[in-house]
Amino acid sequence: MSFDLSSRLAERRAAHLYRQRPLLESPQGVRVTVDGQALLAFCSNDYLGLANHPEVIDAFTRGARQWGVGGGASHLVVGHSEPHHQLEEALAHFTGRPRALLMSSGYMANIGAVTALVGKGDTILQDRLNHASLLDAGLLSGARFSRYLHNDPVSLASRLEKAVGNTLVVTDGVFSMDGDLADLPSLCATARAKDAWVMVDDAHGFGCLGRNGGGIVEHFGLGMGDVPVLIGTLGKGFGTAGAFIAGSEELIETLIQFARPYIYTTSQPPAVACATLASLQLLRDEHWRRDHLQQLITQFRAGVAELGLELMDSPSPIQPILVGSSARALALSAALREQGILVTAIRPPTVPQGTARLRVTLCAAHSEDDVGQLIAALKHALTKLPEQTHD
Ligand SMILES: *Cc1c(COP(=O)(O)O)cnc(C)c1O
Repeated sequence: MSFDLSSRLAERRAAHLYRQRPLLESPQGVRVTVDGQALLAFCSNDYLGLANHPEVIDAFTRGARQWGVGGGASHLVVGHSEPHHQLEEALAHFTGRPRALLMSSGYMANIGAVTALVGKGDTILQDRLNHASLLDAGLLSGARFSRYLHNDPVSLASRLEKAVGNTLVVTDGVFSMDGDLADLPSLCATARAKDAWVMVDDAHGFGCLGRNGGGIVEHFGLGMGDVPVLIGTLGKGFGTAGAFIAGSEELIETLIQFARPYIYTTSQPPAVACATLASLQLLRDEHWRRDHLQQLITQFRAGVAELGLELMDSPSPIQPILVGSSARALALSAALREQGILVTAIRPPTVPQGTARLRVTLCAAHSEDDVGQLIAALKHALTKLPEQTHD
């Protein structure tokens, strides 16, 4: 027997679930060239418009001149350089925690933190809609793994009753495909009552939420007692690459000893850390980016509601339009693209069956005119589409 890859691929195509990678032929931004076409994009996670910011680019190039390109080795061998260390100190200060640990990606940060903290004989409880990297981390940990109903402290509490060993409760801060916020005040109180630890992956909250861009914990005014393990990623609002875990001295030392995706990988290029130091400053100090985003969110939600489309309960720059069938989501995305607008259709298994959507994301670099164009294009796309398109 050989692997029958062709029928697997054919099945995926027939189910409207086949994935293709748009080829980006310009820098990241709200105006991009994709597959030869100039498009206005509403699907990047570069929420603050920092990925191609001149000061960030400048810090990166100066960093490369001073530090070279490759990290050269893992952090524990000889790959932990001064820019990495400075960035960790700046991120600790930014999050108001004693220490932060720089990781090469958010996926690895999640696998590393979870597997270093729980194992056989322990319990991990996760929101049903958590990011794939958290679910993978839970499976890999070997701990008893159960998923509670989305954002539901009652469902969490009933699972906590049956928990054994050390118990870790894990949630996205801002849910990546829905844009809604974790109800952290309730979830943290519920976990605390059972001596469970809470870990929050705030990949989409940093930069967007909180007065200083400190994310969901700043938004709710929560500290390390509520959320002992705080994860941020640097490839989204920060506009660079990598991730961090912030917490107590003991937490970070534990991760340095036991987190395998930290130990067994090459450090990120130091120049990337130089770039992140510059973007952190912009993210924290340029409040206008968050204020402008809020205006765009309000404008977009009002416009889409008028079209009779179904929005999700989201106060964040992630503003998905719920479509339902994968075929219809693809058709809407294609109709927008014909009008020069790029919004990707998100389909199962990234989201639950029957909840395919256009995941619109807004960016501080968008103008009100841009959002107006998107709404007009949606209106036009709807007139061209049959009422129902079945999968
Ligand atoms: C994007 C994302 C990650 C992964 O981060 P990378 O740095 O891109 O690997 C982790 N968690 C959530 C919630 C994300 O949206």
